[in-house]
Amino acid sequence: MTNKISAKDRMAIERTAMPELPAEVRSRNFEEVNLGLSYQQALDEARRCLQCKNRACVAGCPVGVSIPEFIDALASEDLPRAAQVLRGDNALPAVCGRVCPQETQCEALCVRGVKGESVAIGYLERYVADWAMRHPDLLLTEAAPAATGKSVAVVGCGPAGLTAAGELARKGHKVTIFEALHDTGGVLRYGIPEFRLPKEIIDREVAVLSRLGVAIECNVIIGKTLTISELSSEFDAVFIANGAGLPTMLNIPGENLKGVYAANEFLTRVNLMEAGRREDCNTPIIKSREVAVIGGGNTAMDCVRTARRLGAERAMIVYRRSEAEMPARVEEIKHAKEEGVEFVMLTAPLAIIGNDQRWVSGLRCQRMELGPPDESGRRKPSPVPGSEFELSAGVVINAVGTSANPLLTATAPDLALNKWGNIVASETGETSIPGVFAGGDIVRGGATVILAMGDGKSAAAAIDEYLKRK
Ligand code: FAD
Ligand code: SF4
Repeated sequence: MTNKISAKDRMAIERTAMPELPAEVRSRNFEEVNLGLSYQQALDEARRCLQCKNRACVAGCPVGVSIPEFIDALASEDLPRAAQVLRGDNALPAVCGRVCPQETQCEALCVRGVKGESVAIGYLERYVADWAMRHPDLLLTEAAPAATGKSVAVVGCGPAGLTAAGELARKGHKVTIFEALHDTGGVLRYGIPEFRLPKEIIDREVAVLSRLGVAIECNVIIGKTLTISELSSEFDAVFIANGAGLPTMLNIPGENLKGVYAANEFLTRVNLMEAGRREDCNTPIIKSREVAVIGGGNTAMDCVRTARRLGAERAMIVYRRSEAEMPARVEEIKHAKEEGVEFVMLTAPLAIIGNDQRWVSGLRCQRMELGPPDESGRRKPSPVPGSEFELSAGVVINAVGTSANPLLTATAPDLALNKWGNIVASETGETSIPGVFAGGDIVRGGATVILAMGDGKSAAAAIDEYLKRK
């Protein structure tokens, strides 16, 4: 089949909506909310693409996926070629098709969005990636690379580490990933819940790496079990991608009360250890009918939607600005509202309050109003005098952010850090120690999956050059 359709006919096709589980069903289980397009829906959506010469959408993608090319292959019903083009630019397309903020990246620059709705690039990416996972026998095979005899240690098995490992293995280097937790995927597994990203997707991506010969050693904490200098003497190069998982404290009274969680702890207990979902779980979680989540990003949205699924009748987002300033993805906010999450906007917590047994009983809050934009470009909130009030809650989750964990860097004194404790690295990942590279959240602070992957890809190219020179 060829993708020969007139521009007029392409323009006449309307954007396809993503089929979803009904809100009343999904708000009580952990099944994936977005169900994926059917074959016909994917073809119709692909045929909306104008195959623009200037490829505006590609400029919006942090890893430069060849968007018009993979969409053209899909519209021409050549799925193996579509999968090959996509995989060539993006190591984790089934992940990115689900969690990337396309609405602010490729789709924001799509020409079709100027006068109407952009092409649903994310939905199409997911369609092709899922097809490829279901049809491994139909994929165009890559020739196995010749072994170079060089070895690389990768610290951390999140998107940055997984991407770098895949790229380096494809160049013939022997790669070992060291991961502190007992399982792979980083935030993709312990942070992002299954109703957005099923664990099976991560397992399959990790299996691709294993087939490439990448070794993964879990339960190894670099900075404790082994140090960076020990890795440097055992391997020809090191890539540090240990993320930024240390919770930022609220610095308000009551943070030590029973029933207060940091977002990462709450999500790890539920997603990784299955707390609240399995009776015999060794790391249980406190449940409450009223749960307040402080913050307005993706992490806050994941916590509140998880709390709702664990049975909270009143699951609340407490955020000091208005919805327009929320950093969470638009789709997450929409889904949360449909699932019955309550949004307590323009509200800042002053203290977490508890009973005489030191169990959380609520939040003391203050209403805020928005003034002119601050240094982040968002309108600055300031307190409304005399507006204090109390919000009842049995569990409070702090989802205001995370920063670099000093555990690894404290044992590598030659590694230059910035004032927030992030590793200082060049655009291609070189750090202050020759042969040691870094990327992802440990360099950028909390960012996105695709930026972490982009770092993994560019660092892998720089490590390959370094190993050729060595
Ligand atoms: P991570 O994913 O954090 O992986 C780091 C890995 O290193 C972890 O497995 C960790 O256990 C391991 N590690 C840590 N210290 C050590 C050590 N000392 N030794 C060995 N291993 C170590 N981004 C999006 O684009 N879209 C989203 O929808 C989205 N939702 C998010 C939801 C949540 C709840 C969170 C927390 C983040 C979300 N993000 C999202 C951000 C995104 O997940 C991160 O930017 C991305 O995962 C960073 O990748 P990374 O590889 O740098 O680090
Ligand atoms: Fe297709 Fe939009 Fe990219 Fe143009 S900008 S090639 S219409 S996806």
